[in-house]
Amino acid sequence: MQATLSAALWGDMVDQLPLGVLLLDPAGRIRGWNDWLARHTAIVLPAALGKTLPELFPGFDHPRFAWALAEVLATGSPQVLSHTLNRHVIPIRLSVPNPYELVLMQQKVQITALAAEDGTPLALVSITDVTENVLQAQSLIAAARALQESSHHDSLTGLYNRRFMASWLEQELKQAQRHNYPVSCLMLDIDHFKRINDTHGHAVGDRVLRDFAQVLGGQLRDSDLFVRHGGEEFVVLLTRCPLPEALFRAQTLLGALRAAAVGTLPAGAVTCSVGAAVYAPDAPCTPDALLNQADKQLYVAKRAGRDRVAPASI
Ligand code: GH3
Ligand code: MG
Ligand code: MG
Repeated sequence: MQATLSAALWGDMVDQLPLGVLLLDPAGRIRGWNDWLARHTAIVLPAALGKTLPELFPGFDHPRFAWALAEVLATGSPQVLSHTLNRHVIPIRLSVPNPYELVLMQQKVQITALAAEDGTPLALVSITDVTENVLQAQSLIAAARALQESSHHDSLTGLYNRRFMASWLEQELKQAQRHNYPVSCLMLDIDHFKRINDTHGHAVGDRVLRDFAQVLGGQLRDSDLFVRHGGEEFVVLLTRCPLPEALFRAQTLLGALRAAAVGTLPAGAVTCSVGAAVYAPDAPCTPDALLNQADKQLYVAKRAGRDRVAPASI
């Protein structure tokens, strides 16, 4: 027969547990406070004993915890407060900064019923640090968001990519058909871009592409969709916009580009050509047909001398 363990040894064990152990009586007064809590809150056991949590932590207001505590003391049935709803019970500042602006330790809290020797019901509150799990989950969420973002956007310019445009256009042309409005399509291609690359280098070419997107993007509205179609070719989709207005908007874009220093190049050094086409609900066509039509007009603009819009007018 082995000897039972002493109360002192049990006390040492509770102090060595890698979690907070807190004992509360029905008045909410602290009857037990292990070393883990003392270390993390910098409140030593003698300072904690007999106090309530609001006395130790001014502003402590935790209705869900109060409810769970009352439930355990009244019924004896255990309660769990997951961090997702409650974040923390004991406010403990994190010492290491993290990218998700978490300031306080995230905790999972379990409350079970105990009874003192005199029969007084007590609540045993165990507090587990789940900050690491929360940070891991946050970083997974951030990675998923970045992935979703990159699946819609071009990484060099930040504009929408061709894949996003395809699904957008599919939906938008259906809406245009149903609600009877035109959608104009501008296909833009930077003039002699190969020459810019060859003369100034690929890095400058990349800066030209980024600045081009900035300059033209500054002229567009929230309802316009600006897409990097590939290489130095871009698409602007103008919803509820008839062709004459689209041609006017295209001229505005060319004007803004001529007036801007793009990349390391002076104003006027970078120009582009534009082909325009319209989806008219009374003569519906597929997204591909609309893009092909704009591409044909782009070719016309190139052949006519570049830095211009085709058709010139209607
Ligand atoms: P045009 O006026 O007829 O359009 O002539 P262009 O020189 O602009 O057309 P071309 O198709 O001959 O050349 C396009 C060049 O764009 C070739 C390609 O290397 C370059 N390019 C495509 N994508 C990128 C990119 O992401 N960065 C850089 N720097 N260059 C790119
Ligand atoms: Mg080009
Ligand atoms: Mg091209």
